[in-house]
Amino acid sequence: ELLRCPPSSRTPVLLGPASLSSHCSVSCLYNKGVMCNSSCRPPFPPQAKGDLIGVSICRKCIAPKPARTHHCSICNRCVLKMDHHCPWLNNCVGHYNHRYFFSFCLFMTMGCIYCSISGWDMFREAYAAIERMKQLEKERLQAAANQTYYQTPPPAFSFRQRAFHKSIVYLWVLCSSVALALGALTLWHAALITRGETSIERHINKKERQRLQKKGKAFRNPYSFGAWDNWRVFLGVDVPRHWLTRVLLPSTHLPHGTGLSWDTPPCVRPWHAPLLAI
Ligand SMILES: [Zn+2]
Ligand SMILES: [Zn+2]
Repeated sequence: ELLRCPPSSRTPVLLGPASLSSHCSVSCLYNKGVMCNSSCRPPFPPQAKGDLIGVSICRKCIAPKPARTHHCSICNRCVLKMDHHCPWLNNCVGHYNHRYFFSFCLFMTMGCIYCSISGWDMFREAYAAIERMKQLEKERLQAAANQTYYQTPPPAFSFRQRAFHKSIVYLWVLCSSVALALGALTLWHAALITRGETSIERHINKKERQRLQKKGKAFRNPYSFGAWDNWRVFLGVDVPRHWLTRVLLPSTHLPHGTGLSWDTPPCVRPWHAPLLAI
């Protein structure tokens, strides 16, 4: 009984919250598609000096480097508001695709958590079935050891049954591992977004904070507008309906600003405005 493949009556249970799972899949694929599309790579900073104010020069590109821009040694170019180079997506994460990267991580994690929770019972049954198959195989071989070869009884299960149960175990282990690893990465990036920092700025700001602390001064991140407004700026939420149209649903809207200069976006509440950056 335990060795049978799960009956089809279980399918509706798995597909119950189908809207959540398909939404996660669609959003995840959409964001990954944008991230991996070479035509959507973050644009180069301009090569002409005239348009930019208060910029340094990139030693490798020998070109102006706006604030928050960093040189990526893998892409061999400067990237606006560079966060990090993602080897999994084979692309740099910067000003124009940071939101897509985060959405991809978030929806992928949600999808994996959904699969892990809804597949828990199936995993347990498949695991028990594999253990039972091992036991049956052991008994069969022990019985065969006392008899001649042509009298060996046939296996109590088919190759298909075993492959099915092993696939379920593999699927569940893979889903839960990805949920844990990607979940940790997503939480880390969520913390950075809350603070209005990129991964690179995290290190720079940490050093600066320690340096100023020794002098008895406090460090303030000039690109942070407060936790709530940082999220609104990051996700491009200007009006409440954008939470639906721009966050929950796939959206192609551009981020605030050009990535060349960093002014306070109009959606930020006025009492955060004094934190103006270059
Ligand atoms: Zn450069
Ligand atoms: Zn890169």
